[in-house]
Amino acid sequence: MPYRFTFDLTIVPRKFFRELALLIDSRNLHKKTGEVLRNLIKKFRLSEMTGLDVSDILLILEDLVDIYLKNIAYRENFIRTGKRVLFLPHCARKYIDYKCRAEFDPEIPTYRCRKCSDDCQVNQAAEIARGLGYDVYIVPGGSCIPNIIKRFGYDGVVGVACGEEIKLASIFLDRANIAAQAVPLLKNGCSNTKFNLSSLSRILELYSEHSMSGGEIDFCE
Ligand code: SF4
Ligand code: SF4
Repeated sequence: MPYRFTFDLTIVPRKFFRELALLIDSRNLHKKTGEVLRNLIKKFRLSEMTGLDVSDILLILEDLVDIYLKNIAYRENFIRTGKRVLFLPHCARKYIDYKCRAEFDPEIPTYRCRKCSDDCQVNQAAEIARGLGYDVYIVPGGSCIPNIIKRFGYDGVVGVACGEEIKLASIFLDRANIAAQAVPLLKNGCSNTKFNLSSLSRILELYSEHSMSGGEIDFCE
């Protein structure tokens, strides 16, 4: 389910995300989350920069905070998992029309990337993940994720999606007690979406306990 508005946080300076992550790590948010985030929005002039209402930015940031905290909470369990999968959203393909050479397999369902573009984020992310031993699915929507997990018996899940889709997927993952790590889209809109590949790589590399990195920023730089 998409947000009822589009956003592009790729234009927001890294400094903002660093400050947000520091606040979360210091656990300064607590019940004052809204107030702290409002101050941050004001300080970085995010409303002027993105053209979004403060209330919409607040919604996005609250989701980012939740995702970040959940990643921390599930990290140790995730590190112990054995059979891992990466779910990528179809909307982050470089092309979402006929120019994308991926074949759609309705039986899973997933797109099978044919690597037509080296600069396609989905192609790049899939390459990295496969190199680390992950199975990869480029899914048309979050609703197919529970079936894929059950069918192939994954115990560790990494997912890229917009905050709203991540929230929906978390309901199933929490109930099924499956350790998951999420990377939110920084630009939504259901086509030409963007996520931070470096942040995803760092999460994918949590393949062994040696790579565990306590307070690192997980999704923004
Ligand atoms: S690289 Fe793969 S996912 Fe990206 S546009 Fe080409 S075929 Fe589609
Ligand atoms: S932005 Fe992408 S992940 Fe979010 S609802 Fe649209 S297609 Fe799905």
